[in-house]
Amino acid sequence: MGLTGLQIFKLLPKTNCGECGVPTCMAFAMALANAKASLDQCPYVSDEAKEQLDAAAAPPIRKVTLGAGEFTRAMGDETELFRHDKRFFNETVVAVMVDDTEDVAAKAEAFDKKVYERVGLTFYTDALAIVNASGDAGKFKAAVEAAMGKTDRILVLCSEDADAMAAALDAAADRKPLICSATAANFDKMVELATSKGCPLAVKGADIAETVELAQKAAAAGAKDLVLDSGSRQPSQTVADLTQIRRNALKRTKGFGFPAMAVVTSEGDMDQVVEAVSYMSNYAALIALRADDDALLLPLLSWRQNLYTDPQKPIAVEPGLKEVGDVTPDSPVYTTTNFSLTYYIVEGEVEASKKPSYILAVDTDGISVLTGFAAGKFTGETIAAAIKETGLEDKVNHRNIVIPGGVAVISGKLEDASGWKALVGPREASGIPKFVRENF
Ligand code: SF4
Repeated sequence: MGLTGLQIFKLLPKTNCGECGVPTCMAFAMALANAKASLDQCPYVSDEAKEQLDAAAAPPIRKVTLGAGEFTRAMGDETELFRHDKRFFNETVVAVMVDDTEDVAAKAEAFDKKVYERVGLTFYTDALAIVNASGDAGKFKAAVEAAMGKTDRILVLCSEDADAMAAALDAAADRKPLICSATAANFDKMVELATSKGCPLAVKGADIAETVELAQKAAAAGAKDLVLDSGSRQPSQTVADLTQIRRNALKRTKGFGFPAMAVVTSEGDMDQVVEAVSYMSNYAALIALRADDDALLLPLLSWRQNLYTDPQKPIAVEPGLKEVGDVTPDSPVYTTTNFSLTYYIVEGEVEASKKPSYILAVDTDGISVLTGFAAGKFTGETIAAAIKETGLEDKVNHRNIVIPGGVAVISGKLEDASGWKALVGPREASGIPKFVRENF
């Protein structure tokens, strides 16, 4: 709730009538503070107190949803400054920018095909940001329509010309694009467009102070789904602004409680990725960048994937016996842990060896080979137990199992516990294809 029991008590009627199910208003206030009661249980709370309590119960950073249909993304609704205190929840929206002077249809078609797989999960770039570089309303609208014909993903409409934005929204409002941006110069018209079309709105000031002032004005005018753009296009200042916005939002400082965005301005390919990673790691809910090459986007999205996992829960695959290719009773058997990253790297290399094989993923609670070994979860005994549990002995007509080279020391115990022969494989999974050529 964000308020203490005493602060809530001050807003209650203090008649101790007991109708809420507890004998006193103080007891009810304590229950509310601990989220064990709901405000509507008290029939006598005033509208004014209700408003204050509802505001205190709202998340410190408003949840703003972009897009419609299959492709929607939530931004904001975060509660932490430091990821290790709990976790970050709503992944940074990555928007690839395209100018309305370019071949937008071709770019949107290529953008729509960007789908990546990593550690068993599928992800893609979320949004296409169409920039009104021409300064022409007709061209902007045509570019937005061309993009809509090629992709269903989220759109970000970038123009500070309210007439151009109105034209584009005539075509795209149903997609609930982000309107980018309301400034001091176009404020009234942009806010009117956002409220009448029901679309989220970015507000951009000359600096963070003006941005927050505009956000408060926009919220008062009825545009609640806002995104803050501090106006900075200089990386270190942008990082400082993003951090200040998050800190103030969590302190519930007025005007800061919205997701924040950043625009990547570096020109070099790798520089763009580094700049984008800096913003992503410092609380940007949306970043817009020009880079659209898979080799640049994949590392960026991989970074995002890592940043938004729960730091207290390693990402794991289901433990058990996995088949890679059309296995036969003669197929080799490898073992590794059920830490996703390790498992999928091993699986990829086994696949690359072109020899159908089994992989025994031992349950280590999702931790890696060496950590699992150190924690007593990836040992001769646990591998022997997994061999039994999975019925591996009935699947193959040999008794050889390849263990990671980094834990060669467990060979003896594994052989004693299982009766299988331990073949010490390479230290790194990348050595598997060579190992296969030399041994199978
Ligand atoms: Fe107090 Fe309201 Fe509960 Fe009555 S119903 S005891 S006024 S909190």
